[in-house]
Amino acid sequence: MNLVGGRLCLDFVNTVGGWNPDPARGNNDHYAAVARADKLNDYFDLLAWSLHTKLLGKGETQALAREAGRRDKEAAATLRRAVALRGAIYGACAAIIHGSRPRASDLDLLNQELNVAHGRVRLGVDEENFVWEWTDAKNALDRMLWRIADSAAEMLTTDDLTRLRGCPGEDCGWLFLDISKNSRRQWCDMQTCGNLAKVRRFRQRQSS
Ligand SMILES: [Zn+2]
Repeated sequence: MNLVGGRLCLDFVNTVGGWNPDPARGNNDHYAAVARADKLNDYFDLLAWSLHTKLLGKGETQALAREAGRRDKEAAATLRRAVALRGAIYGACAAIIHGSRPRASDLDLLNQELNVAHGRVRLGVDEENFVWEWTDAKNALDRMLWRIADSAAEMLTTDDLTRLRGCPGEDCGWLFLDISKNSRRQWCDMQTCGNLAKVRRFRQRQSS
């Protein structure tokens, strides 16, 4: 899976293909999109993605997989929270891209997850310095959600959001932060959506 978002929270949003980039069509469409091409179908998919993005190490992933096997109801609930968080981050970003105000329900959900995450943060000391640490993280099935929620809050408060884009590729809608110098990046990935569009334009020219 390509990681093209430029921020952890955007790569998380991009675990779905086929986002409808038009927030005016409402929340239901987000969930329709989820059903179309979703990479997160169970908790173990969430673990695999976390390993892929290096959010979790191999040992941590294996330990959580064992825990999830024992606590299957909690694992299923964590996946539901993950999918809801993803929808809320997408909703907030889509609103920004389209110049509208984020929905209160999306903000509420993001804040709920931020509360959970911030409740897990503590001040620790390593060799020389004070550091932020996650407390009791080892067996917490939802620990990847803390970092994702944190990443979303960080991006929304500190990044230049005029550079937030949705890929116009057919059935794509992936989000990314355009950090190119000329700020003219259009596609999630030139190799996929960019090329497809090129081929389509070429065929149109041939037939006309
Ligand atoms: Zn794309």
